[in-house]
Amino acid sequence: MKQVLVLNCGSSSIKYELFEMDQGRALEAGLVERIGEAKSCLKQTSSGSGTNWPSRTTEVSVPDHRHGIDMIRRVLSENASFDGGRHLVGIGHRAVHGGETFSRPTLIDDQVLAAIRDLIPLAPLHNPANLVGMEVARAAFPHVPQVAVFDTAYHQTLPRYAYHYAVPQDWYDSYRVRRYGFHGTSHQYVAKQIARHLGRSADELNTIVLHLGNGCSASAIRGGVSVDTSMGLTPLEGLMMGTRCGDLDPAILVHMGKQAGMSLSQLDTALNKQSGLKGLCGVNDMREVMAMAAGGDGAANLAVEIFVYRIKKYIGAYHAVLGRLDAIAFTAGIGQHSPEIRARSCRELEAMGIAIDPARNTAATGSETSEIQTVDSRVKVLVVATDEELEIAQQTLTCVRDAQ
Ligand code: AMP
Repeated sequence: MKQVLVLNCGSSSIKYELFEMDQGRALEAGLVERIGEAKSCLKQTSSGSGTNWPSRTTEVSVPDHRHGIDMIRRVLSENASFDGGRHLVGIGHRAVHGGETFSRPTLIDDQVLAAIRDLIPLAPLHNPANLVGMEVARAAFPHVPQVAVFDTAYHQTLPRYAYHYAVPQDWYDSYRVRRYGFHGTSHQYVAKQIARHLGRSADELNTIVLHLGNGCSASAIRGGVSVDTSMGLTPLEGLMMGTRCGDLDPAILVHMGKQAGMSLSQLDTALNKQSGLKGLCGVNDMREVMAMAAGGDGAANLAVEIFVYRIKKYIGAYHAVLGRLDAIAFTAGIGQHSPEIRARSCRELEAMGIAIDPARNTAATGSETSEIQTVDSRVKVLVVATDEELEIAQQTLTCVRDAQ
């Protein structure tokens, strides 16, 4: 039996999931939260599958990431199948920003850590936390190969005209300003699931993947290769999100700086944390927003209208980019679980060969891949459950094997 541990280290949290790789089955998962705060906590979900796992929350003291990873190692040791880590063939780390340096999963060594450190200016919040996790995990599991799997890597195939911004060339040359795209692991996993479900090879399919969670992104995938994506230098661009604005006229920043006296850091906070659904109606959770809208709240109703309108615009744009479109996939929290958002995003697209069947749409649970288009729809519309951790585990295993 081969096992892979996936770690996702944030600034104050570590998510982990242990996989048995012969069947791609999760054995144990959990989250250490509020690291460094007075009351940290460990949430464990074990021996089951998906979101219905039994879960246990324990208050613990976790002063730093080293203690967090030690705790995860102890928790794993309680799982009989872990067997002291004897079957662990690799540890996969979710890494947010790989810049132009990393276009594939990469075995971690000192040079790789230095290169990720060099990319901190592009992801000042995420890359330092990822680095701490990698360093601590290397010390805790010194004999296990460790792999960095980058959120940006899948989109490194974008053509230059898609990733360049029309700004002074020096911004790219000196400051690495370009579109990188994020959620790459999810887009890649979903593209493969679509091909598997349709019984086709990924390289013969043109698809649009709509990852609609608290963060939202769209991608245009031609023959399994990402050719455009909505997030940019940072995850702020593109679709409207829970707390992020998505696309906007950059002159708005100048306007608000001059007129309202907002500083760069205030603008950054406003656009990343106080915009999107939250900015428009005070709440960032789509379930709550939709309940408010259904209860007659005009601001919530407008927020949902803008949300679906922007998805529709990206479907149109990426259909044009791809020319021939075979499938659209909805994934992540909103994409998998909201028939209403799916239906409204594709409303009146029949002329483009896209039509959703209401009964199939309502019946799709989001836990397994299902088709929701009408019999006449030229384009397949699918609901796909994303699994970024499993994709990271699989890429880790492949990378470790290739290195042997
Ligand atoms: P994620 O970031 O993928 O976990 O997705 C989180 C988002 O999915 C939140 O905005 C949730 O409100 C939303 N979500 C989850 N279930 C539903 C649902 N049944 N209907 C609408 N939105 C949902």
